[in-house]
Amino acid sequence: MLGKLEVPARLSGKLFAEGRFIAGEGGRLPVYNPARGEVIGDIAIATPGEIAATVAAAVAAWRPWARQPARMRAEALHTLGRLILDDAAGMAELMTLEQGKPFNEALGEIRKLAEACHFYAEEAVRVHGEVIPNDQPGFQSLVLREAIGVVAAITPWNYPAELVGWKLCAAVAAGCPVIIKPSEFTPFTALHIAEKTLQAGIPPGVVSVLTGDGASVGQALVDHPDIPKIAFTGSSRTGLRIQQSCPSIKRLSLELGGNCPLLVTRHADLPQAVQGAVRRSFRNMGQICIAINRIYVERTVYADFLAQFAAATRQLVIGDGLLHPAADLGAMAQAAPLQNTRQHLQDALDKGARLIAGGAAPQGEAFAKGLFFQPSIVADCTAQMLVMREETFGPLVGVAPFDHLGEAIALANDTPYGLAAYAYTQDLQEIHRCAAELDVGNVAINHVDAGIMNAPYGGRKQSGIGVEHGREGLLEYFQFKHVRLRHGVGA
Ligand code: NAD
Repeated sequence: MLGKLEVPARLSGKLFAEGRFIAGEGGRLPVYNPARGEVIGDIAIATPGEIAATVAAAVAAWRPWARQPARMRAEALHTLGRLILDDAAGMAELMTLEQGKPFNEALGEIRKLAEACHFYAEEAVRVHGEVIPNDQPGFQSLVLREAIGVVAAITPWNYPAELVGWKLCAAVAAGCPVIIKPSEFTPFTALHIAEKTLQAGIPPGVVSVLTGDGASVGQALVDHPDIPKIAFTGSSRTGLRIQQSCPSIKRLSLELGGNCPLLVTRHADLPQAVQGAVRRSFRNMGQICIAINRIYVERTVYADFLAQFAAATRQLVIGDGLLHPAADLGAMAQAAPLQNTRQHLQDALDKGARLIAGGAAPQGEAFAKGLFFQPSIVADCTAQMLVMREETFGPLVGVAPFDHLGEAIALANDTPYGLAAYAYTQDLQEIHRCAAELDVGNVAINHVDAGIMNAPYGGRKQSGIGVEHGREGLLEYFQFKHVRLRHGVGA
């Protein structure tokens, strides 16, 4: 394993552009370890000149990279996946240092990043077009898929490796150069990935990382005329801002916020439902776009569910993710969602909710300087409470009873979001009803792992447009071309 501050020290103040690390000339932003409140390094805010040079290098790299046989792009991604796996422990340690999640969980994320490299490598060689019959003899229509051009990948801090990786791998596989603007809170993981792309022999200009804040660096990429696609993951507010501020027509994929419901009917396997509720409400301290925010439980099993859910939640172990690699929960990654959690909790209590687990920061010296909070449950919630309406993005979940499945589905859908929904029931009709009527991009029934690498993942309504993962995720990086050919044969 690497010395804990070796990588941030080496990558501090660096941009990755034109195939090498350069010292950024702009201002600096500090990066913190959220478990201890200590500065671990700083990042450069890319200047307009650095952004312009990086985009120009990406534009120059585009056609040569897109014209490479797909097999070569696939080989580069396989190599990248192997390099990442070889250094998985070091990369996970760095992620824990800047993000706060327990080391073992970070390790799992790094392994999934490597999986994404191999998945997109395999998909890269399976992109083909179509031949479409024409009404007139002697004509033929070819439908080709061409790489869209330079992509700006703008990412948040909750999954610093995977959310970069999904975009990077799909873009590279398709033949698109990608300029990554990682979250200013977790920039080192992205720079570390860039270092691996260099070792993997991916040509200069194909992958770049420009660090800095969203308002200047992120927005400059959105504004840039030579960037035809923005692949964004982040809040609905920023997603809307990007959509509204695009100065020219661009392809957008926007993976945005959620306010995800879980439905538990009297036909559920209750212990399984409790296990799922604990995992998806609190994993990564609730800082997951597909986290369960609100739970609707059929009244006949409501009290039983609450008792088991509260008991299982109290068993969760919180700790500094480097000192306690196997802890269930680490520190929160930044102060804003912690503040949101406190606000949503207070709002629920003020409006009559009942606190049945957590409710405060854990006590003790080990937690004094970090962004920690106990996983918290409020019961008897109403639709007016913030926890049932807005994305908390923290370790808080609201629970409410329902009497009929139709009522629960209506409550689940009564939100501007449409990312994921979960249901536990062993009844076949209820299963099909939930699958058909929940108005979201991802439905998980009798488990809570909504996304897999080879199926499309995306949101509806204010949760976004476009998808990542799967064949469909790769196709987001292509544009169609219809070539209508008059060859005259058979005319
Ligand atoms: P955010 O929207 O504040 O920031 C995301 C990224 O956008 C950062 O890199 C930021 O610097 C950049 N940015 C900010 N303003 C910008 C602008 N004007 N132009 C261009 N870029 C700009 O989100 P966050 O707080 O980092 O992440 C949390 C949010 O991300 C939550 O709402 C969560 O639900 C969402 N999220 C969604 C998914 C998904 O797949 N749907 C996955 C993870 C996180």
